Amino acid sequence: MQTLANDKQKLITALSVLLSLGFIITSFASYFVSKETIRKSIIKDELPLTSDNIYSEIQKDLVRPTFISSMMASDTFLRDWVLDGEKDLAQITKYLGEIKNRYGTFASFYVSERTGNYYHPGGILKQISPKDEHDVWYYRVRAMKQPYEISVDTNQADKDALTIFINYHVYDYADKFLGVAGIGLTVDAVRKLIDSYQERYDRIVYFVDLKGDVALYSNHQTSPGDNIRRIEGLQAQADTVLKSQSGSYQYKRDGRVHLLNVRFIPELDWYLFVEKMEDEALAEIKRTLYMNLALCMVITGVVLTLTNITINRYQRRLEEMATTDKLTGLANRQACELFADQAMKLARRNQEPLSAILIDIDHFKQVNDRYGHLAGDAVIKQLAETIQGCLRESDFLCRWGGEEYLLLMKGCDLNRAQIIAEHLRTTVKEAPIVHEGVSITVTISLGVAEHRDEESNTVMFGRADEALYRAKASGRDRVCTAD
Ligand code: GH3
Ligand code: MG
Ligand code: MG
Repeated sequence: MQTLANDKQKLITALSVLLSLGFIITSFASYFVSKETIRKSIIKDELPLTSDNIYSEIQKDLVRPTFISSMMASDTFLRDWVLDGEKDLAQITKYLGEIKNRYGTFASFYVSERTGNYYHPGGILKQISPKDEHDVWYYRVRAMKQPYEISVDTNQADKDALTIFINYHVYDYADKFLGVAGIGLTVDAVRKLIDSYQERYDRIVYFVDLKGDVALYSNHQTSPGDNIRRIEGLQAQADTVLKSQSGSYQYKRDGRVHLLNVRFIPELDWYLFVEKMEDEALAEIKRTLYMNLALCMVITGVVLTLTNITINRYQRRLEEMATTDKLTGLANRQACELFADQAMKLARRNQEPLSAILIDIDHFKQVNDRYGHLAGDAVIKQLAETIQGCLRESDFLCRWGGEEYLLLMKGCDLNRAQIIAEHLRTTVKEAPIVHEGVSITVTISLGVAEHRDEESNTVMFGRADEALYRAKASGRDRVCTAD
Protein backbone atom coordinates (compact mmCIF):
# COMPACT_ATOMS: atom_id res chain seq x y z
CA MET A 1 0.00 0.00 0.00
CA GLN A 2 2.87 2.30 0.93
CA THR A 3 4.71 1.52 -2.31
CA LEU A 4 1.53 2.22 -4.27
CA ALA A 5 1.27 5.66 -2.67
CA ASN A 6 4.97 6.26 -3.40
CA ASP A 7 4.55 5.22 -7.01
CA LYS A 8 1.60 7.56 -7.34
CA GLN A 9 3.62 10.43 -5.88
CA LYS A 10 6.46 9.65 -8.28
CA LEU A 11 4.12 9.55 -11.28
CA ILE A 12 2.43 12.84 -10.33
CA THR A 13 5.81 14.52 -9.78
CA ALA A 14 7.19 13.19 -13.07
CA LEU A 15 4.05 14.27 -14.91
CA SER A 16 4.08 17.76 -13.44
CA VAL A 17 7.79 18.19 -14.19
CA LEU A 18 7.33 16.92 -17.77
CA LEU A 19 4.23 19.02 -18.46
CA SER A 20 5.63 22.18 -16.89
CA LEU A 21 8.98 21.78 -18.62
CA GLY A 22 7.30 21.08 -21.96
CA PHE A 23 5.01 24.06 -21.65
CA ILE A 24 7.70 26.41 -20.39
CA ILE A 25 10.15 25.39 -23.10
CA THR A 26 7.59 25.80 -25.92
CA SER A 27 6.31 29.10 -24.51
CA PHE A 28 9.80 30.55 -24.21
CA ALA A 29 10.92 29.15 -27.56
CA SER A 30 7.98 30.77 -29.33
CA TYR A 31 8.59 33.98 -27.36
CA PHE A 32 12.20 34.17 -28.47
CA VAL A 33 11.34 33.33 -32.09
CA SER A 34 8.64 36.05 -32.14
CA LYS A 35 11.00 38.47 -30.43
CA GLU A 36 13.65 37.95 -33.10
CA THR A 37 11.06 38.26 -35.90
CA ILE A 38 9.69 41.48 -34.42
CA ARG A 39 13.15 42.95 -33.89
CA LYS A 40 14.13 42.09 -37.44
CA SER A 41 10.96 43.56 -38.90
CA ILE A 42 11.46 46.78 -36.90
CA ILE A 43 15.07 47.11 -37.99
CA LYS A 44 14.60 46.01 -41.60
CA ASP A 45 11.14 47.35 -42.44
CA GLU A 46 9.37 49.55 -39.93
CA LEU A 47 12.06 52.09 -39.08
CA PRO A 48 13.37 52.52 -42.66
CA LEU A 49 9.79 52.92 -43.86
CA THR A 50 9.04 55.66 -41.33
CA SER A 51 12.29 57.31 -42.33
CA ASP A 52 11.35 57.15 -46.04
CA ASN A 53 7.91 58.57 -45.32
CA ILE A 54 9.24 61.48 -43.31
CA TYR A 55 11.82 62.18 -45.99
CA SER A 56 9.29 62.26 -48.80
CA GLU A 57 6.98 64.48 -46.70
CA ILE A 58 9.86 66.89 -46.16
CA GLN A 59 10.67 66.92 -49.86
CA LYS A 60 7.01 67.59 -50.64
CA ASP A 61 6.92 70.44 -48.15
CA LEU A 62 9.99 71.98 -49.75
CA VAL A 63 8.75 71.92 -53.35
CA ARG A 64 6.44 74.93 -53.06
CA PRO A 65 8.86 77.22 -51.26
CA THR A 66 11.54 76.31 -53.79
CA PHE A 67 9.18 77.20 -56.58
CA ILE A 68 8.36 80.59 -54.98
CA SER A 69 12.05 81.39 -54.57
CA SER A 70 12.72 80.45 -58.19
CA MET A 71 9.89 82.74 -59.25
CA MET A 72 11.42 85.62 -57.27
CA ALA A 73 14.81 85.02 -58.86
CA SER A 74 13.38 85.33 -62.36
CA ASP A 75 10.93 88.16 -61.57
CA THR A 76 11.47 91.08 -64.01
CA PHE A 77 10.39 93.61 -61.39
CA LEU A 78 13.11 92.52 -58.96
CA ARG A 79 15.78 92.42 -61.65
CA ASP A 80 14.74 95.78 -63.15
CA TRP A 81 14.64 97.39 -59.72
CA VAL A 82 18.15 96.16 -59.00
CA LEU A 83 19.47 97.15 -62.41
CA ASP A 84 17.81 100.54 -61.93
CA GLY A 85 20.09 101.18 -58.94
CA GLU A 86 17.98 99.94 -56.00
CA LYS A 87 16.45 103.41 -55.68
CA ASP A 88 13.02 103.16 -54.12
CA LEU A 89 13.24 101.17 -50.87
CA ALA A 90 9.44 101.25 -50.51
CA GLN A 91 9.04 99.32 -53.74
CA ILE A 92 11.26 96.41 -52.73
CA THR A 93 9.86 96.19 -49.18
CA LYS A 94 6.33 96.20 -50.61
CA TYR A 95 7.36 93.47 -53.04
CA LEU A 96 8.96 91.31 -50.32
CA GLY A 97 5.99 91.96 -48.00
CA GLU A 98 3.63 90.82 -50.76
CA ILE A 99 5.55 87.58 -51.25
CA LYS A 100 5.57 86.92 -47.53
CA ASN A 101 1.85 87.59 -47.10
CA ARG A 102 0.56 85.99 -50.22
CA TYR A 103 2.44 82.74 -49.83
CA GLY A 104 2.39 82.70 -46.04
CA THR A 105 6.15 82.27 -45.82
CA PHE A 106 7.99 83.08 -42.67
CA ALA A 107 10.58 85.38 -44.24
CA SER A 108 11.38 86.83 -47.66
CA PHE A 109 14.59 88.59 -48.57
CA TYR A 110 16.91 89.87 -51.24
CA VAL A 111 20.64 90.47 -50.79
CA SER A 112 22.30 92.69 -53.33
CA GLU A 113 25.76 91.88 -54.64
CA ARG A 114 26.43 95.48 -55.64
CA THR A 115 25.40 97.30 -52.46
CA GLY A 116 25.60 94.45 -49.93
CA ASN A 117 22.15 95.42 -48.63
CA TYR A 118 20.02 92.74 -46.98
CA TYR A 119 16.42 93.70 -47.84
CA HIS A 120 13.45 92.21 -46.00
CA PRO A 121 9.79 93.33 -45.66
CA GLY A 122 10.78 95.66 -42.83
CA GLY A 123 13.40 97.53 -44.85
CA ILE A 124 17.18 97.07 -44.93
CA LEU A 125 18.14 94.63 -42.24
CA LYS A 126 21.88 95.10 -42.57
CA GLN A 127 24.88 95.38 -44.80
CA ILE A 128 26.44 92.02 -45.27
CA SER A 129 30.13 91.59 -44.83
CA PRO A 130 32.49 88.69 -45.39
CA LYS A 131 33.80 89.37 -41.91
CA ASP A 132 30.46 88.79 -40.23
CA GLU A 133 30.08 85.10 -39.47
CA HIS A 134 26.31 85.48 -39.84
CA ASP A 135 26.86 86.34 -43.50
CA VAL A 136 29.09 83.46 -44.41
CA TRP A 137 26.09 81.78 -46.03
CA TYR A 138 25.88 84.51 -48.71
CA TYR A 139 29.41 84.00 -49.89
CA ARG A 140 28.91 80.29 -49.89
CA VAL A 141 25.74 80.61 -51.99
CA ARG A 142 27.40 83.06 -54.35
CA ALA A 143 30.21 80.61 -55.01
CA MET A 144 27.82 77.72 -55.71
CA LYS A 145 27.53 76.28 -59.22
CA GLN A 146 23.92 75.24 -58.83
CA PRO A 147 21.28 78.02 -58.88
CA TYR A 148 19.88 77.43 -55.40
CA GLU A 149 20.30 75.68 -52.08
CA ILE A 150 18.14 74.76 -49.15
CA SER A 151 19.83 75.36 -45.84
CA VAL A 152 18.95 75.48 -42.22
CA ASP A 153 20.18 78.52 -40.38
CA THR A 154 19.22 81.00 -37.71
CA ASN A 155 17.24 84.00 -38.89
CA GLN A 156 18.73 87.35 -37.92
CA ALA A 157 15.54 89.09 -38.91
CA ASP A 158 13.66 87.08 -36.29
CA LYS A 159 15.61 86.69 -33.08
CA ASP A 160 17.81 83.97 -34.57
CA ALA A 161 14.91 81.51 -34.88
CA LEU A 162 15.87 78.25 -36.59
CA THR A 163 14.74 78.63 -40.20
CA ILE A 164 14.88 76.70 -43.44
CA PHE A 165 16.10 79.08 -46.15
CA ILE A 166 15.79 78.61 -49.88
CA ASN A 167 18.54 80.78 -51.35
CA TYR A 168 18.28 81.46 -55.09
CA HIS A 169 20.83 83.14 -57.43
CA VAL A 170 19.46 86.26 -59.22
CA TYR A 171 20.98 87.10 -62.62
CA ASP A 172 20.41 90.04 -64.98
CA TYR A 173 19.35 89.56 -68.58
CA ALA A 174 22.96 89.02 -69.59
CA ASP A 175 23.43 86.37 -66.90
CA LYS A 176 25.44 88.58 -64.63
CA PHE A 177 25.12 87.75 -60.94
CA LEU A 178 23.00 90.34 -59.10
CA GLY A 179 22.51 88.81 -55.68
CA VAL A 180 20.49 86.22 -53.78
CA ALA A 181 16.71 86.18 -53.24
CA GLY A 182 14.58 83.72 -51.42
CA ILE A 183 12.25 82.88 -48.61
CA GLY A 184 12.50 81.31 -45.21
CA LEU A 185 10.28 78.80 -43.48
CA THR A 186 10.16 78.08 -39.81
CA VAL A 187 10.98 74.54 -38.90
CA ASP A 188 7.54 74.28 -37.33
CA ALA A 189 6.22 72.32 -40.30
CA VAL A 190 8.97 69.76 -39.87
CA ARG A 191 8.42 69.69 -36.13
CA LYS A 192 4.70 69.02 -36.70
CA LEU A 193 5.66 66.19 -39.00
CA ILE A 194 7.80 64.72 -36.25
CA ASP A 195 4.92 65.05 -33.77
CA SER A 196 2.46 63.30 -36.05
CA TYR A 197 4.89 60.44 -36.71
CA GLN A 198 5.66 60.06 -33.07
CA GLU A 199 2.01 59.82 -32.21
CA ARG A 200 0.96 57.66 -35.11
CA TYR A 201 3.73 55.13 -35.04
CA ASP A 202 5.03 55.35 -31.50
CA ARG A 203 8.51 56.27 -32.68
CA ILE A 204 11.05 58.77 -31.44
CA VAL A 205 12.02 61.10 -34.29
CA TYR A 206 14.70 63.82 -34.25
CA PHE A 207 17.22 65.51 -36.49
CA VAL A 208 20.95 65.74 -36.00
CA ASP A 209 23.25 68.11 -37.88
CA LEU A 210 26.63 67.34 -39.42
CA LYS A 211 28.43 68.04 -36.18
CA GLY A 212 26.23 65.61 -34.32
CA ASP A 213 24.22 68.32 -32.56
CA VAL A 214 20.56 67.51 -32.06
CA ALA A 215 18.98 70.15 -34.32
CA LEU A 216 15.30 69.45 -33.92
CA TYR A 217 13.02 67.19 -31.90
CA SER A 218 9.35 67.04 -31.08
CA ASN A 219 7.77 69.29 -28.50
CA HIS A 220 6.23 66.19 -26.98
CA GLN A 221 9.55 64.54 -26.39
CA THR A 222 12.27 65.12 -23.89
CA SER A 223 15.53 66.09 -25.51
CA PRO A 224 17.55 63.06 -26.51
CA GLY A 225 20.65 65.15 -25.61
CA ASP A 226 22.48 68.09 -27.16
CA ASN A 227 24.98 66.07 -29.18
CA ILE A 228 24.90 62.40 -30.11
CA ARG A 229 28.48 62.08 -28.90
CA ARG A 230 27.13 62.71 -25.45
CA ILE A 231 24.06 60.44 -25.64
CA GLU A 232 24.58 57.47 -23.35
CA GLY A 233 25.10 54.27 -25.31
CA LEU A 234 25.21 56.07 -28.66
CA GLN A 235 28.53 57.85 -28.12
CA ALA A 236 30.60 54.83 -29.13
CA GLN A 237 28.80 54.64 -32.48
CA ALA A 238 28.47 58.40 -33.11
CA ASP A 239 31.35 58.65 -35.58
CA THR A 240 30.16 55.65 -37.59
CA VAL A 241 26.62 57.05 -37.67
CA LEU A 242 27.77 60.46 -38.88
CA LYS A 243 30.07 58.97 -41.50
CA SER A 244 27.42 56.90 -43.28
CA GLN A 245 24.51 58.14 -45.33
CA SER A 246 22.16 55.65 -43.72
CA GLY A 247 22.18 52.66 -41.39
CA SER A 248 20.55 50.68 -38.63
CA TYR A 249 21.95 50.66 -35.12
CA GLN A 250 21.01 49.72 -31.62
CA TYR A 251 22.19 51.03 -28.31
CA LYS A 252 21.30 50.81 -24.64
CA ARG A 253 20.29 53.87 -22.68
CA ASP A 254 18.91 53.91 -19.14
CA GLY A 255 18.72 50.12 -19.30
CA ARG A 256 16.48 50.16 -22.38
CA VAL A 257 17.44 48.95 -25.84
CA HIS A 258 16.86 51.55 -28.57
CA LEU A 259 16.54 50.35 -32.16
CA LEU A 260 17.70 53.19 -34.42
CA ASN A 261 17.53 54.00 -38.12
CA VAL A 262 19.52 56.92 -39.48
CA ARG A 263 19.39 58.53 -42.92
CA PHE A 264 20.96 61.67 -44.25
CA ILE A 265 18.65 64.39 -45.66
CA PRO A 266 20.87 66.30 -48.14
CA GLU A 267 18.38 69.17 -48.57
CA LEU A 268 18.70 70.04 -44.90
CA ASP A 269 22.19 68.74 -44.26
CA TRP A 270 20.61 66.92 -41.35
CA TYR A 271 20.47 63.30 -40.32
CA LEU A 272 17.02 61.96 -39.62
CA PHE A 273 16.99 59.68 -36.53
CA VAL A 274 14.04 57.31 -36.08
CA GLU A 275 14.04 55.19 -32.94
CA LYS A 276 11.84 52.63 -31.28
CA MET A 277 12.21 51.16 -27.81
CA GLU A 278 12.62 47.42 -28.01
CA ASP A 279 10.64 46.76 -24.80
CA GLU A 280 7.64 48.73 -26.08
CA ALA A 281 7.64 46.75 -29.31
CA LEU A 282 7.87 43.52 -27.36
CA ALA A 283 5.25 44.41 -24.73
CA GLU A 284 2.52 42.62 -26.68
CA ILE A 285 4.37 39.30 -27.04
CA LYS A 286 5.52 39.53 -23.43
CA ARG A 287 1.86 39.72 -22.42
CA THR A 288 1.21 36.70 -24.67
CA LEU A 289 4.07 34.85 -22.98
CA TYR A 290 2.64 35.51 -19.50
CA MET A 291 -0.82 34.46 -20.65
CA ASN A 292 0.63 31.28 -22.18
CA LEU A 293 2.46 30.44 -18.98
CA ALA A 294 -0.68 31.07 -16.90
CA LEU A 295 -2.71 28.89 -19.26
CA CYS A 296 -0.07 26.16 -19.07
CA MET A 297 -0.19 26.23 -15.30
CA VAL A 298 -3.97 25.86 -15.40
CA ILE A 299 -3.73 22.97 -17.90
CA THR A 300 -1.00 21.29 -15.84
CA GLY A 301 -3.16 21.70 -12.75
CA VAL A 302 -6.21 20.20 -14.49
CA VAL A 303 -4.22 17.28 -15.94
CA LEU A 304 -2.64 16.52 -12.58
CA THR A 305 -5.99 16.69 -10.76
CA LEU A 306 -7.61 14.38 -13.32
CA THR A 307 -4.64 11.98 -13.13
CA ASN A 308 -4.86 11.99 -9.36
CA ILE A 309 -8.59 11.27 -9.42
CA THR A 310 -8.15 8.46 -11.97
CA ILE A 311 -5.26 6.88 -10.08
CA ASN A 312 -7.21 7.07 -6.81
CA ARG A 313 -10.19 5.42 -8.45
CA TYR A 314 -8.07 2.60 -9.91
CA GLN A 315 -6.23 2.24 -6.64
CA ARG A 316 -9.50 1.82 -4.79
CA ARG A 317 -10.68 -0.71 -7.34
CA LEU A 318 -7.42 -2.63 -7.12
CA GLU A 319 -7.65 -2.67 -3.33
CA GLU A 320 -11.21 -3.90 -3.57
CA MET A 321 -10.20 -6.59 -6.03
CA ALA A 322 -7.36 -7.66 -3.80
CA THR A 323 -9.53 -8.01 -0.71
CA THR A 324 -12.90 -9.13 -2.10
CA ASP A 325 -14.05 -12.53 -3.27
CA LYS A 326 -15.55 -12.18 -6.72
CA LEU A 327 -18.21 -14.87 -6.48
CA THR A 328 -19.78 -14.02 -3.13
CA GLY A 329 -18.74 -10.40 -2.71
CA LEU A 330 -17.47 -11.35 0.75
CA ALA A 331 -14.01 -10.44 2.03
CA ASN A 332 -11.38 -12.97 0.97
CA ARG A 333 -8.96 -14.84 3.21
CA GLN A 334 -6.22 -12.13 3.16
CA ALA A 335 -8.70 -9.43 4.15
CA CYS A 336 -10.04 -11.77 6.82
CA GLU A 337 -6.59 -12.31 8.33
CA LEU A 338 -6.01 -8.54 8.48
CA PHE A 339 -9.42 -8.00 10.04
CA ALA A 340 -8.88 -10.83 12.52
CA ASP A 341 -5.56 -9.31 13.63
CA GLN A 342 -7.25 -5.98 14.35
CA ALA A 343 -10.26 -7.63 16.03
CA MET A 344 -7.97 -9.70 18.21
CA LYS A 345 -5.98 -6.65 19.37
CA LEU A 346 -9.17 -4.75 20.09
CA ALA A 347 -10.65 -7.68 22.02
CA ARG A 348 -7.48 -7.96 24.09
CA ARG A 349 -7.46 -4.24 24.86
CA ASN A 350 -11.18 -4.14 25.74
CA GLN A 351 -11.10 -7.46 27.58
CA GLU A 352 -13.94 -8.65 25.38
CA PRO A 353 -14.50 -12.15 24.01
CA LEU A 354 -13.94 -12.96 20.34
CA SER A 355 -15.15 -16.12 18.62
CA ALA A 356 -14.58 -17.74 15.25
CA ILE A 357 -16.83 -20.21 13.43
CA LEU A 358 -15.44 -22.22 10.51
CA ILE A 359 -18.22 -23.42 8.20
CA ASP A 360 -17.87 -26.11 5.51
CA ILE A 361 -20.58 -27.36 3.17
CA ASP A 362 -21.19 -31.10 3.51
CA HIS A 363 -20.57 -33.33 0.51
CA PHE A 364 -20.18 -30.41 -1.77
CA LYS A 365 -18.43 -32.52 -4.40
CA GLN A 366 -21.72 -34.31 -4.86
CA VAL A 367 -23.56 -31.01 -5.45
CA ASN A 368 -21.07 -30.20 -8.18
CA ASP A 369 -21.34 -33.69 -9.62
CA ARG A 370 -25.09 -33.75 -9.55
CA TYR A 371 -26.11 -30.25 -10.53
CA GLY A 372 -23.01 -29.01 -12.29
CA HIS A 373 -20.32 -26.52 -11.42
CA LEU A 374 -22.49 -23.45 -12.08
CA ALA A 375 -25.11 -24.71 -9.65
CA GLY A 376 -22.25 -25.28 -7.18
CA ASP A 377 -21.23 -21.65 -7.60
CA ALA A 378 -24.81 -20.52 -7.04
CA VAL A 379 -24.95 -22.58 -3.84
CA ILE A 380 -21.71 -20.99 -2.52
CA LYS A 381 -23.09 -17.55 -3.37
CA GLN A 382 -26.59 -17.96 -1.97
CA LEU A 383 -25.39 -19.69 1.14
CA ALA A 384 -23.19 -16.67 1.85
CA GLU A 385 -26.31 -14.49 1.62
CA THR A 386 -28.28 -16.80 3.88
CA ILE A 387 -25.55 -16.76 6.55
CA GLN A 388 -25.06 -13.02 6.19
CA GLY A 389 -28.80 -12.59 6.75
CA CYS A 390 -28.46 -14.11 10.21
CA LEU A 391 -25.59 -11.85 11.41
CA ARG A 392 -25.11 -8.58 13.30
CA GLU A 393 -23.34 -5.65 11.75
CA SER A 394 -20.26 -6.17 13.90
CA ASP A 395 -19.92 -9.81 12.76
CA PHE A 396 -17.46 -10.43 9.96
CA LEU A 397 -18.02 -13.15 7.35
CA CYS A 398 -15.43 -14.09 4.74
CA ARG A 399 -14.90 -16.78 2.16
CA TRP A 400 -12.15 -18.89 3.70
CA GLY A 401 -11.66 -21.36 0.85
CA GLY A 402 -13.61 -23.23 -1.84
CA GLU A 403 -16.85 -23.96 0.02
CA GLU A 404 -15.65 -22.82 3.41
CA TYR A 405 -16.58 -19.65 5.28
CA LEU A 406 -15.12 -18.09 8.38
CA LEU A 407 -17.20 -16.04 10.74
CA LEU A 408 -15.60 -13.70 13.30
CA MET A 409 -17.82 -12.37 16.07
CA LYS A 410 -16.68 -9.57 18.32
CA GLY A 411 -18.01 -9.50 21.89
CA CYS A 412 -19.18 -13.06 21.56
CA ASP A 413 -18.13 -15.89 23.89
CA LEU A 414 -18.04 -19.62 23.14
CA ASN A 415 -21.58 -20.31 24.40
CA ARG A 416 -23.16 -17.59 22.39
CA ALA A 417 -21.09 -18.55 19.33
CA GLN A 418 -22.31 -22.11 19.69
CA ILE A 419 -25.94 -20.94 19.77
CA ILE A 420 -25.41 -18.83 16.69
CA ALA A 421 -23.68 -21.73 14.93
CA GLU A 422 -26.60 -23.96 15.71
CA HIS A 423 -29.00 -21.33 14.41
CA LEU A 424 -27.00 -21.07 11.18
CA ARG A 425 -26.97 -24.81 10.74
CA THR A 426 -30.76 -25.11 11.01
CA THR A 427 -31.42 -22.03 8.88
CA VAL A 428 -29.25 -23.39 6.04
CA LYS A 429 -30.83 -26.80 6.23
CA GLU A 430 -34.34 -25.35 6.15
CA ALA A 431 -33.72 -22.91 3.32
CA PRO A 432 -33.10 -24.89 0.13
CA ILE A 433 -31.25 -23.10 -2.60
CA VAL A 434 -33.10 -22.66 -5.88
CA HIS A 435 -30.99 -22.64 -9.00
CA GLU A 436 -32.67 -22.54 -12.45
CA GLY A 437 -35.87 -23.92 -10.99
CA VAL A 438 -34.07 -26.76 -9.17
CA SER A 439 -34.18 -26.81 -5.40
CA ILE A 440 -30.94 -27.87 -3.78
CA THR A 441 -30.77 -28.60 -0.07
CA VAL A 442 -27.35 -28.57 1.58
CA THR A 443 -26.19 -28.96 5.13
CA ILE A 444 -23.19 -27.44 6.80
CA SER A 445 -20.76 -28.53 9.49
CA LEU A 446 -19.41 -25.91 11.88
CA GLY A 447 -16.35 -25.71 14.14
CA VAL A 448 -16.50 -23.08 16.89
CA ALA A 449 -13.56 -21.62 18.87
CA GLU A 450 -13.26 -18.73 21.33
CA HIS A 451 -10.12 -16.66 21.29
CA ARG A 452 -7.81 -17.26 24.21
CA ASP A 453 -5.40 -14.74 25.70
CA GLU A 454 -1.93 -14.66 24.11
CA GLU A 455 -3.18 -16.98 21.36
CA SER A 456 -2.46 -16.06 17.75
CA ASN A 457 -5.18 -16.08 15.14
CA THR A 458 -3.59 -19.00 13.39
CA VAL A 459 -3.84 -21.06 16.54
CA MET A 460 -7.47 -20.06 17.07
CA PHE A 461 -8.34 -20.90 13.44
CA GLY A 462 -6.50 -24.21 13.85
CA ARG A 463 -8.66 -25.06 16.86
CA ALA A 464 -11.86 -24.13 14.94
CA ASP A 465 -10.65 -26.30 12.06
CA GLU A 466 -10.05 -29.16 14.39
CA ALA A 467 -13.60 -28.77 15.81
CA LEU A 468 -14.94 -28.74 12.26
CA TYR A 469 -13.03 -31.92 11.52
CA ARG A 470 -14.71 -33.52 14.52
CA ALA A 471 -18.14 -32.35 13.28
CA LYS A 472 -17.42 -33.95 9.90
CA ALA A 473 -16.10 -37.09 11.45
CA SER A 474 -19.09 -37.47 13.74
CA GLY A 475 -21.58 -37.45 10.91
CA ARG A 476 -21.72 -33.91 9.48
CA ASP A 477 -24.63 -31.41 9.73
CA ARG A 478 -23.58 -30.50 13.25
CA VAL A 479 -21.71 -28.00 15.43
CA CYS A 480 -18.61 -28.92 17.41
CA THR A 481 -16.73 -26.62 19.76
CA ALA A 482 -13.01 -26.50 20.35
CA ASP A 483 -11.66 -27.30 23.79
P1 GH3 B 1 -17.00 -32.83 3.02
O1 GH3 B 1 -18.37 -33.04 3.51
O2 GH3 B 1 -16.01 -33.76 3.60
O3 GH3 B 1 -16.57 -31.40 3.11
O4 GH3 B 1 -17.11 -33.23 1.54
P2 GH3 B 1 -16.84 -32.28 0.32
O5 GH3 B 1 -17.38 -32.96 -0.90
O6 GH3 B 1 -17.40 -30.96 0.54
O7 GH3 B 1 -15.28 -32.34 0.28
P3 GH3 B 1 -14.22 -31.18 0.13
O8 GH3 B 1 -14.50 -30.09 1.09
O9 GH3 B 1 -12.88 -31.82 0.20
O10 GH3 B 1 -14.46 -30.71 -1.35
C1 GH3 B 1 -14.81 -29.42 -1.72
C2 GH3 B 1 -15.19 -29.41 -3.12
O11 GH3 B 1 -15.74 -28.14 -3.47
C3 GH3 B 1 -14.04 -29.64 -4.01
C4 GH3 B 1 -14.19 -28.63 -5.13
O12 GH3 B 1 -14.40 -29.25 -6.38
C5 GH3 B 1 -15.44 -27.87 -4.79
N1 GH3 B 1 -15.26 -26.48 -4.92
C6 GH3 B 1 -14.31 -25.71 -4.32
N2 GH3 B 1 -14.46 -24.41 -4.72
C7 GH3 B 1 -15.52 -24.38 -5.57
C8 GH3 B 1 -16.16 -23.32 -6.30
O13 GH3 B 1 -15.80 -22.19 -6.24
N3 GH3 B 1 -17.23 -23.66 -7.08
C9 GH3 B 1 -17.66 -24.90 -7.17
N4 GH3 B 1 -18.72 -25.14 -7.94
N5 GH3 B 1 -17.07 -25.92 -6.53
C10 GH3 B 1 -16.02 -25.67 -5.72
MG1 MG C 1 -14.08 -28.27 2.27
MG1 MG D 1 -17.16 -29.76 2.19
